[in-house]
Amino acid sequence: MWCNWLLLHIKFIMMDFESIFIAYKVPELYGRYITLDHIEPLLQKWDQNDELSVIGRSVESRPIYQFKTGTGKTRILMWSQMHGNESTTTKALFDFLNFLRSETDIAKNLLKDFTFCCLPMVNPDGAKLYTRENAAKVDLNRDANLLTQPESKALRLAFNQFQPDYCYNLHDQRTIYGAGTSGKPATVSFLAPSYNDAREVNTNRAKAIDIIVAMNATLQKYIPGQVGRFDDSFNINCIGDTFQSLNVPTILFEAGHFPNDYNREETRKLIFIALLSGFESINENVVVSNRLEDYLNIPQNKVNFYDLVYKNVKISYDCNKIITNFAAQFTEDLVEETIQFCANIVQIDNLENFFGHVEFDAEGAEFQSENVNFPEIGQKADFNFNNNVKVVNGIVKN
Ligand SMILES: [Zn+2]
Repeated sequence: MWCNWLLLHIKFIMMDFESIFIAYKVPELYGRYITLDHIEPLLQKWDQNDELSVIGRSVESRPIYQFKTGTGKTRILMWSQMHGNESTTTKALFDFLNFLRSETDIAKNLLKDFTFCCLPMVNPDGAKLYTRENAAKVDLNRDANLLTQPESKALRLAFNQFQPDYCYNLHDQRTIYGAGTSGKPATVSFLAPSYNDAREVNTNRAKAIDIIVAMNATLQKYIPGQVGRFDDSFNINCIGDTFQSLNVPTILFEAGHFPNDYNREETRKLIFIALLSGFESINENVVVSNRLEDYLNIPQNKVNFYDLVYKNVKISYDCNKIITNFAAQFTEDLVEETIQFCANIVQIDNLENFFGHVEFDAEGAEFQSENVNFPEIGQKADFNFNNNVKVVNGIVKN
């Protein structure tokens, strides 16, 4: 017994997360637009012993799938794409499920120690429309208490039937978040949600915190300084807060921006690594002190990033020429089954305490665009500097 444990432990220590990811990444899923059409064939193909069932139906009657695998005593409930346009964790969840099918020793041991219940797409209508809300325009993550929507009821039914030991609430976050004030993006963020207004830490919340600390320690090797911690204000309408208050340790995952990775394929890998290292830490069951302190040392998410920042730009303002900064942000538009990123100017000021994922120093060159010689909020980010540097859709061309 001891020997087996030791052997497994050594295997985990030696686990090369990146190689595992490369070997088991699901190639059918790519980019930001992930719908039921993409995941349904995979679920049906992987359903060998009734792992797959329909736990409910969406507003537009699409199936909400539940995929259950493993025979272990530790029960993990994971759900993704409760917000329809947040697909990165869905991709990582499929990579993880694919790894579980690998019949490697690590996968076999995970299936022996854990039972996983996954709802990979809670909001299939929103996924189709590429919206955060469901088809009735309700944010399902504000419906955890009232349960007005069929999707909320389906998730609650899965929770009640499965009786998890841990809940994983899987999301994407926008590119606006930095990990504290360091100037690094929050590529992955976590939260152990509160279960009361006083934001106390009880045994269950501490269990969630322990796992986050372990996942953060692993992620720091890949993305030093790029892990953030979300604000823990209590809101019973949020699903994580509700499940935490029902005494199940719950973790919010937020897949965020990695430089130049708007398809979020790099972040997908990092979520996969977080999942594996988190399960490893639950299995290790090692009592470590000061985990709360380690958790609180993860920098808090701050809204301090724009996609594109242009500095030291000369513009005409009230008949004067001034030097200023401005920022542009990409919108995500669904066009013919793909997501197009369109840059628009969103802020013009000195941008103190803000960062750009891409920054361009115009060194006093003059802003010029069709008809106007000053940037306007809402304007498409197509312009020139001094008539020789061309910016198209926010990107400097020469
Ligand atoms: Zn979300």
